[in-house]
Amino acid sequence: MAQDRRGLLLILSSPSGAGKSTLTKMLMAWDDTMRFSVSATTRKPRPGEADGRDYFFRSREDFEAMVAAGEMLEHAEVFGNFYGTPKGPVEANMRDGRDTVFDIDWQGGQQIRNSALGRDVVSIFVLPPSIAELDRRLRSRGQDSDEVIAGRMAKSRDEISHWAEYDYVLVNEDLGDTFESLKTILTAERLRRDRQPRLSDFVRGLNAEFAAR
Ligand code: GDP
Ligand code: ADP
Ligand code: 5GP
Repeated sequence: MAQDRRGLLLILSSPSGAGKSTLTKMLMAWDDTMRFSVSATTRKPRPGEADGRDYFFRSREDFEAMVAAGEMLEHAEVFGNFYGTPKGPVEANMRDGRDTVFDIDWQGGQQIRNSALGRDVVSIFVLPPSIAELDRRLRSRGQDSDEVIAGRMAKSRDEISHWAEYDYVLVNEDLGDTFESLKTILTAERLRRDRQPRLSDFVRGLNAEFAAR
C-alpha cells in the first residue's frame, strides 16, 4: 500500500490551454506515489508525446472496441476526437491505496463523479486569468495548427460553463502560486476524517493511555 487508505481520484478540467497538463506534471514530479491516468485517444500525437506515457494513441476501431468491451471508466468526444479513461489502472491504483490524477474534460468529470467511484472524487476546475491570456498560451504551446487553436478557443466558453460542478476552482495566473494551491487542496483532502480509516483505532489507543494513567 502506498498509504493507509483508499486512493482518491483527483480530476482536473479546464478549457484547453489553461494549464492543467502543466500542473498535472508538476504534481506528479512532487509526489511520486501518485499515478497519472493515461487516457486513450483517437487524436494524433503531438511532437514529444509518447504512446503509453501521455496517451494511448489508438485508431477509431480500437477505441470503439475498448468501449464495447467495457474497458473504459468514461469516454467522450472532445474537439472531434474520442478520449476515454481505461478502467484497469484506476482500479489497481485504488486497491494499492494510490491517488490517481485525471486530466479530462467536463463530460468525463461528470461521468466519474456519477459513477460508483464518485465518493472518492476530488474535482478541480482551472480557469485562465483572461481569454486573451488563454489564447496566448494556446499559441505559445506551439503544438497545434491555427485551425485547431481556433476550434479549441471556440469550445472554451462551453468548457468554462461547467466550472460550478467542481469542488475547487483555481485561477491559473502565476503558475507557482497555482501549484501551491493545488498541493494545499490535495494535502487537505488526504487529511479528511473519512479518508483516515485508522483514526478510530488511534483514538482508542489514546483512550487506553488515559485509562492507564
Ligand atoms: P515538457 O515535459 O518539456 O513538456 O515540460 P513540462 O512538462 O515541464 O512543462 C510543460 C510546459 O510548461 C512547457 O511549455 C514548460 O515550458 C512550461 N513550464 C514549466 N515550468 C514553468 C514555469 O515555472 N512557468 C511557466 N510559465 N511555464 C512553465
Ligand atoms: P492544458 O493542458 O490545459 O491544455 P497546458 O498545460 O498545455 O494547458 O498549458 C498551455 C500553455 O500555457 C503551455 O505552454 C504552458 O507552459 C503555459 N502555461 C501554463 N500555465 C501557465 C501560467 N500560469 N503562466 C504562463 N504560462 C502558463
Ligand atoms: P488534448 O488533446 O489537449 O490533450 O486534450 C483535449 C481535451 O480532452 C482536454 O480537455 C482533456 O482534458 C480531455 N481529455 C483527455 N483525456 C480524456 C479522457 O480520458 N476522457 C475525457 N472525457 N476527456 C479527456
